Amino acid sequence: MGTIIDGKALSLSLKEEMKERIINLENEYGRKPRLAVIIVGDNPASRSYVRGKINAASFVGMDSVLVELPEDVEERKLLETIDNLNRDENTDGILVQLPLPRHIDEEKVIDSICIEKDVDGFHPGNVAKLWLGRKCIIPCTPKGIIKMIESTGIEISGKKAVVVGRSNIVGKPVAKLLLDRNATVTIAHSRTRDLAQTCREADILVAAVGKPNMIGADMIKPGAVVIDVGINRIPTIREDGTEGSRLVGDVDFDSAAGIASFITPVPGGVGPMTITMLMENTIECFLSRQ
Ligand code: NDP
Repeated sequence: MGTIIDGKALSLSLKEEMKERIINLENEYGRKPRLAVIIVGDNPASRSYVRGKINAASFVGMDSVLVELPEDVEERKLLETIDNLNRDENTDGILVQLPLPRHIDEEKVIDSICIEKDVDGFHPGNVAKLWLGRKCIIPCTPKGIIKMIESTGIEISGKKAVVVGRSNIVGKPVAKLLLDRNATVTIAHSRTRDLAQTCREADILVAAVGKPNMIGADMIKPGAVVIDVGINRIPTIREDGTEGSRLVGDVDFDSAAGIASFITPVPGGVGPMTITMLMENTIECFLSRQ
């Protein structure tokens, strides 16, 4: 049985360190880092993510503000809200929870966040810097994934890494971060011909697809490090016959854990680390503005 990379425990220890750091920052600069989170509409998943982010900010002792806008808010009003936060001296990080309602141009919104306050690292300016190898704000989920791999103590340099998924928020940036650490990286996607064989070659396998349990033990090289980014809610029937649901990853954890050397669980793996990296990014934005 592989060792579980406990994202919850790793997050907690990082957040405890941040608590100390924020006290010191306040003493040194006379104020704490401040994160602004904007949510549009009532999507239950988005609400729950946002709650997690605000709770984490309060846990580490950071200031935060939640801006709630109605589902039918005009794009102009959202851009105006961002502009005010861009200008606000005391706001260090701005995050707009995605996805946004259809009538709002997501790209326009991301582009409007001032690059120094772009805690998600989604602004094209930050993306360009990441790919150029310049100092930048690194997107939270990929950053957390690298921390989890590094926590195992394995050497990334020279290893074969396979990232399944090529989204802008997970697959592509995590592939670049692995490349920066001298892994030989393959990015697989829905058109990859023999996905199972590609995955079996990986010393480090990152699954970021959004398909419940699609990566089974037969797709994993013995001893591989497996990072499961997927968050999939599947329906279940409770003992009393009522309908419920539970979260599963993209990796079939029960079979994969028997063959991997290290593996992340879902829930309790990449999810908590993503939020913790958001806190870290907010501190970095705060420092870069001093
Ligand atoms: P996207 O839907 O943007 O991307 C999914 C990727 O998976 C695409 O590149 C797609 O390929 C690829 N894909 C789809 N089907 C297959 C297949 N059968 N075989 C191989 N590749 C396939 O998703 P995200 O990157 O945004 O998210 C991925 C998962 O990670 C989701 O479950 C999401 O909820 C979760 N997530 C978790 C986070 C966390 O904090 N734990 C944060 C962000 C996301 P193609 O490009 O060819 O269409």
